[in-house]
Amino acid sequence: MRLVFLGTGGSLPTPERNVSATALQRGAEILLFDCGEGTQRQFMASSASFMKVQKVFITHFHGDHFLGLPGMIQSMSFSGRTAPLSVFGPPGMVDIVRIAVTMGHFGCGFDIQVRELRGGQAAEFDGYEVHAVGMDHIVPALGYILKEKDRPGRFRPDRAKELGVREGPFFRKLQSGEAVRVGGAVVEPGMVMGPPRPGMKIAFSGDTRPCDAFIEAARGADVIVHEATIDTSLRVQAAEFGHSTAREAAEVAAKAGAGALYLNHISNRYEDASVLEAEAREVFPKAVLAHDLMVVQIRHRER
Ligand SMILES: [Zn+2]
Ligand SMILES: [Zn+2]
Repeated sequence: MRLVFLGTGGSLPTPERNVSATALQRGAEILLFDCGEGTQRQFMASSASFMKVQKVFITHFHGDHFLGLPGMIQSMSFSGRTAPLSVFGPPGMVDIVRIAVTMGHFGCGFDIQVRELRGGQAAEFDGYEVHAVGMDHIVPALGYILKEKDRPGRFRPDRAKELGVREGPFFRKLQSGEAVRVGGAVVEPGMVMGPPRPGMKIAFSGDTRPCDAFIEAARGADVIVHEATIDTSLRVQAAEFGHSTAREAAEVAAKAGAGALYLNHISNRYEDASVLEAEAREVFPKAVLAHDLMVVQIRHRER
């Protein structure tokens, strides 16, 4: 899997940072978390294609998080898309998508399935699920936790050979979960597989104050992407507008025991936002300030 940070700015775009959008490429599909204005253009500047987006998760209905959706849907249709698109978001998402596909003179050439989620609900897919968490912002807002299902352990050819299984079709049978018979004995797949490999967990905060429900849901995450709109000297404003300081984002990651932390939703007041990374690193040494078009390969953390 890889994360592509398409827009890492908060509230207003700047020449360096577009508004919120983060793509998660998982195999052939792309999951898009938020879709601020200009996201389709950010895709074009990246190595990912917006035509491969299969699922969109909107955190809340401040413009910097969803106003790119109508344009992206129209461009998908204009580019000949026929594959369906799924859109998830807080209550109100159905109306917004309905407006997006009826505004302007265009006929949408593909189906859009919309599902409104509340905190505590989850959407299940092939191999993973996405949980919605009710966050602490000035309007109803969701965070999202993607949890992969555990994968079977790795096949151990050395162990199979020890048990008398010869390389070839029997190996393939065992790898596909079938038992094989060797002489008078039965060799079960479980006897030649390593321990199950835990699936990955990736958490997206959206806009929020530090939030206990999110810490709980993101516990043990391989990666947390957390908003860090401003620095600690502006903590009063952060609280007033329902945002987190970089230090608070780092505290969330530390409490959740996360493997990695990427900071986004950076206020347009910073020409140089390294102060945010520095203060986060005092609490969570591996914190990284995300920038537009940054790509991160996500690997399993050491457990
Ligand atoms: Zn925002
Ligand atoms: Zn907001």
